[in-house]
Amino acid sequence: RSMSTVTIPPPACMLRPLEAPLRYLFGPGPSNVPPRILAAGAKPIIGHMHSEMFEVMDDIKEGIRYAFQTQNNMTISMSGSGHAAMECAVFNTVEPGESVLVAINGIWGERVAEIAERSGGSWHALLRIAMQKHKPVLFFLTHGESSAGLCHLVDGIGDICRKHNCLFLVDTVASLGAAPIFMDKQNIDILYTGSQKALNAPPGTAPISFNDRACHKMFNRKTKPLSYLFDMTYLSNYWGCDGKPARIYHHTGPVSGFFALRESLAILAEKGLEESWRKHKEIAAYLYKGLEDMGLKLFIPDRDLRLPSVTTIAIPDGYDWREMLAYIMKHHQMEMTGGLGPSVGMVMRVGLMGYNCEKFNADKALHALQDALKNCKKSKA
Ligand code: PMP
Repeated sequence: RSMSTVTIPPPACMLRPLEAPLRYLFGPGPSNVPPRILAAGAKPIIGHMHSEMFEVMDDIKEGIRYAFQTQNNMTISMSGSGHAAMECAVFNTVEPGESVLVAINGIWGERVAEIAERSGGSWHALLRIAMQKHKPVLFFLTHGESSAGLCHLVDGIGDICRKHNCLFLVDTVASLGAAPIFMDKQNIDILYTGSQKALNAPPGTAPISFNDRACHKMFNRKTKPLSYLFDMTYLSNYWGCDGKPARIYHHTGPVSGFFALRESLAILAEKGLEESWRKHKEIAAYLYKGLEDMGLKLFIPDRDLRLPSVTTIAIPDGYDWREMLAYIMKHHQMEMTGGLGPSVGMVMRVGLMGYNCEKFNADKALHALQDALKNCKKSKA
C-alpha cells in the first residue's frame, strides 16, 4: 500500500454540497440580489487586465458618477466591502500627526475614529468650534446611519469644511439610491458606498469618488499611505484615472463582483435616481404606518430624519428582541436584525432596499412582526 503524503485528510464538510437557503433579506444588508445581477455575476471570467474588463470598469465609473451625482475623474470601485472604502478614504488623505474630525451619530463614526487612529492621526468629536481648535484635515459624516436608522442632513457642512481647509468625507453605504445625495452640489470631497444595500449587488465591492481637493491632498503627501492595496496612486492607475497611457498590474480585481456591480448601476440608471428615492420614501412611509398600526414605536421620532432604507423600531416593552428575531427567521425565513454598536438592545432593524423595496415585501415584514408579537410571549419582567 502506497503511503499517503498528506497527513491531514480531506474534511468531511468539503465532501458535502454547498448550502445557501433562500431568505428574505430584510435587515440592514446584504439585500436580496435580483436574478439579472446574479446572472451578470455568473458570466464567464475574463482577465482583470483584458480590454473588455477595462470597458466594464469604465462603465462602472460612469455608473458611479451618475449615482453620486459627480463629474469627478477620480471615481473607482474598491475590491472589498464598505470598510475597504472607509480605510481607503482615511489612509490616503491622513498622514501621521494630522487631525480628523468625526461626527459620531452611531457606530460608523466610532469605526472611522478608530481607522484614523490607526493611520497615525488623532480624532475629535464634532462641532464648528472643533474645526478651529483641532484644524482637522478630514471631517467624516455618515449620511445613512444604519445602526440608528438616521439620515443625516448634509447641506451646508461641505461649505464649513471648505472654509477651514478640511476635506468632507461622507459614508453613503446604507443610503445611496434610497435618499438623495449630490456629491458635487453639496461640496462633498470624498464619497463612498457599498454594493450590497440599495444597489442589490453581492457584497464585496465599494464605489468611491474623490474630487480635485481630495486628490490634491492625497497625491501631495510626504509619507506613503499605510496600505499598499488601498494606495490611490496605484488604484487610480488600475482604474484608468491617472491619465497614464498604460494600466499596470496592481492587484487582481474581483471580476465577477465588478460584472455584478456594473449591472446594479445599470439598473439604477434605467430606473433613475429620483424614482428610486421616491420609491424608498413611499415604501418606508407605508412601513411606518403599518408598524404604528400594530402598536410599535419608531426609534427616530422625527420622520424627516429617518433613513428610508433602514427603519429602526424601538423594542416593544416586555419582549426579548433576540427571541422575536429568531422566531421571524425560523417561521418566515426572514432576516431582520437587532441594533449595532450603540443601538444594541434598543432597536430592531428592518431594511427594504432597492429590489426589496416593494409594498408586498413591506406587508411580508409587517406580517412576520405581527406573528412574532403574538407568539413570543412577554417576559415576566
Ligand atoms: N457604513 C455604513 C453606514 C454601513 O451600514 C455599513 C455596513 N453595514 C458599512 C459602512 C460597512 O460596510 P461593509 O460591511 O460592506 O464593510
